[in-house]
Amino acid sequence: MLPFPRTTLTDLRRKLLDHELSSAELVQQYAQRMQQVNPALKAFISWDTERALLSARQADLSLPLGGLPIAVKDNICCLGEPARCASRMLENFVAPYDATAIAKLRIAGAIPFGRTNMDEFAMGSTGENSAFGPTLNPIDENCVPGGSSSGSAAAVAAGIIPAALGSDTGGSVRQPASHCGVVGLKPTYGRISRYGLVAFASSLDQIGTITTCVQDAALLLQALCGYDPLDSTSSKQPVPDFSAELSRGVQGMRIGLPKEYVSSGNAPEVQTALYSAAKALESQGADICEISLPHTEAAVASYYIIACAEASSNLARYDGVRYGYRVEHSPDNTGDIYARSRTLGFGDEVKRRIILGTYVLSGGYYEAYYARAQRVRALVARDFNQAFSSRIQLILGPVAPTPAPKLQAQDMTPLQVYLADIYTVPANLAGLPAISVPVPQASLPIGVQLLAPHYEEARMLRGAEVLEKTLA
Ligand code: GLN
Repeated sequence: MLPFPRTTLTDLRRKLLDHELSSAELVQQYAQRMQQVNPALKAFISWDTERALLSARQADLSLPLGGLPIAVKDNICCLGEPARCASRMLENFVAPYDATAIAKLRIAGAIPFGRTNMDEFAMGSTGENSAFGPTLNPIDENCVPGGSSSGSAAAVAAGIIPAALGSDTGGSVRQPASHCGVVGLKPTYGRISRYGLVAFASSLDQIGTITTCVQDAALLLQALCGYDPLDSTSSKQPVPDFSAELSRGVQGMRIGLPKEYVSSGNAPEVQTALYSAAKALESQGADICEISLPHTEAAVASYYIIACAEASSNLARYDGVRYGYRVEHSPDNTGDIYARSRTLGFGDEVKRRIILGTYVLSGGYYEAYYARAQRVRALVARDFNQAFSSRIQLILGPVAPTPAPKLQAQDMTPLQVYLADIYTVPANLAGLPAISVPVPQASLPIGVQLLAPHYEEARMLRGAEVLEKTLA
């Protein structure tokens, strides 16, 4: 499809400052694009052009993101706009406040514009679990765009918005970015406030960015980071000037390539992309070293137990009484309201996870599953600590074992879909920052991933920019 050329935030900003066009014209232009391609693409599930135009007319262009429209995943609250998490359960919910990330975007001058489609409650890897129907991959409409931030990645890839926010609990920013050929960044856990991000698995959830280039990722990240007293897990670490750190290259950097990530289970084009990335980094003076992350194989099991356990608790609030969709007929008793509202309000994948999560937390099974998964999580984190304390500065790996699967790949069981998260969930379990960068190729897009120690996003961005420039 690829109907429109992609434009970077940096270029758009220059055009606005040069008065080549106004912010309102820019919003109009993107609104028109949405109207044209969204009925087929389904990257957005709602947008409010009037509201965006109002902000555009008041935009302060001197601010870092002054007058630039940014799309927002449907699980991040924007005051006065729907935040439905692509679920029937929240079909009538209108956010009564701004998430801190959105407030920060506004402070930086940006215009939140459009709610992007997603897997329901961010549970999924294809975008197909949306109550609004699946988003298509703009590079090949027979394929999924990845998920759960499916709409954010597809919209940026199709040029119908210059950048978007997503959320990454187990890879949902990086994996769709990889499948759509754009840049997806998940910062260190705690870097961006989760206040106003609808909770899926609170110990893993982070807001992240989807952009067309690494420089834009740095620009957007800058606006979003910083301590927030409204999120008890928000970090007080100082926030460096990410853009200023770019262009410093990777000369002399030791970059680890985990042997567990170079696996025969990867599609050949994924292996090729990984080797080209390693070569590109090496050509710019990095030292690529083989390392081992021995608990990689157990990461997916640990992730799905922990994520489902936390989801079952977080989603208990949607009972049709306190929150969420409520059945119309007056049921016999309160239990009936809960049961019928949840049965109709949630889709299959969400129900599967609530059941799994409730099971692993129940008396008698807690030790065997949940407590054990937490111990595995600690081991996964220890693998990374050991690698980074042996003078490894970044880790290179694939994002997903295959390129984007076909839509409705019915031969895939839920377990097979879960297993494809093997390279993305470790960063969430360990709370590490990670970025997915496209490796240009003739066929479907493939991204590679760089992981950095906690709070070393600046270093990670340097590596990512080298990849982007050298591979171009
Ligand atoms: N694919 C993973 C899952 O389904 C990741 C989801 C996410 O990061 N939100 O849980």
